[in-house]
Amino acid sequence: MVGNVPLGGGAPVVVQSMTNTDTADAEGTARQVFELWQAGSELVRITVNSPEAAAQVATIRRKLDEMGCDVPLIGDFHFNGHKLLAQFPDCAEALAKYRINPGNVGRGSKRDEQFAAMIETAIRFNKAVRIGVNWGSLDQAKMARMMDENANKAEPLSADALMREALIQSALESAEQAEALGLPGDRITISCKVSNVQDLITVYRELGQRCEYPLHLGLTEAGMGSKGIVASTAALAVLLQEGIGDTIRVSLTPEPGESRTKEVVVAQEILQTMGIRSFTPLVTACPGCGRTTSTYFQELAQKIQRYLREQMPVWRSQYPGVEDMNVAVMGCVVNGPGESKLANIGISLPGTGEVPVAPVYVDGEKTVTLKGDHIAEDFQQIVEDYVLTNYREGGKLRSATRVIALKAVS
Ligand code: SF4
Repeated sequence: MVGNVPLGGGAPVVVQSMTNTDTADAEGTARQVFELWQAGSELVRITVNSPEAAAQVATIRRKLDEMGCDVPLIGDFHFNGHKLLAQFPDCAEALAKYRINPGNVGRGSKRDEQFAAMIETAIRFNKAVRIGVNWGSLDQAKMARMMDENANKAEPLSADALMREALIQSALESAEQAEALGLPGDRITISCKVSNVQDLITVYRELGQRCEYPLHLGLTEAGMGSKGIVASTAALAVLLQEGIGDTIRVSLTPEPGESRTKEVVVAQEILQTMGIRSFTPLVTACPGCGRTTSTYFQELAQKIQRYLREQMPVWRSQYPGVEDMNVAVMGCVVNGPGESKLANIGISLPGTGEVPVAPVYVDGEKTVTLKGDHIAEDFQQIVEDYVLTNYREGGKLRSATRVIALKAVS
């Protein structure tokens, strides 16, 4: 459990995200946490890197509570976490979880002492901890020791395999150390992040076999745009399919001007397209081809998906089950009617040379044919009416019945 969010032990896979604001800017950070939460982030991590940042954490928590946002906050600590948690008890209290990087806790004899100070604070304030190892900040003293031992082995590990083993050992030994200090094992999550897809899969498969702790998945420094999305999806999909992973984060580098919430949308879409969890009704759209001569259907698909996502903060609580609704926007008669009939609501737009009309299908039946200049607005109204009618009390049952019926005839 992290705050009010169940974690591990069969609980649904949790979506988390991280702010990129200066935490010392309480107003800006609270606003971004709120946006991430509205987009669907269930846990949000914030940097706590200085006394100025730590001093604002309780204020950020209060601002969020005043906005009706109860998302648990995770504090990200490196180098000086032991000092900040001791100097700012209101920060220690306001956070639901502390992320501790064993490679950035301290050097030499100070390392164990400073690690223990953070764990003791977590015990005192009844908080959860993530032991978050990262290959870019691996404990260098440990790595050097392991390299020496490896060099003397009859069959030494390769440099890559040794690095992976060092990551795993660093996480597991730190978790054991935390438990020995008195932190209950069910308050510990582990992560071992790397930036290479195959390394991440290998490391987490191993972790999944060697411990029972909930695992936080994420490809670190995934990158920008499609590269970041594809690399994260490739790595996370393999692991999630094998039942590995209890929380996920997609570490995208936002493009200039792009919303930070993109990483939440991508994380949700990974889980939803894999059939693991549902968050927002998804739009099925064809790719378009030589049969479409305008961008109209692309714009309609985009507009409907944006509209559905924007409604979810309200719909999520008022219309349970709506997140499973399917909407199809198709470009022509070739696959349009067929795909539209399989969706809860579908529209088949006219392709090149077709009569300029757009039949709409609701629950597999053709209900109306739209034409003229307001097809987009009329279709959106049909979608809204469908939600109001079908997802009030009992609506979910009707939707589920339809899915079963479709499976029975396919
Ligand atoms: S449904 Fe029509 S427009 Fe869309 S890809 Fe298929 S043939 Fe092309």
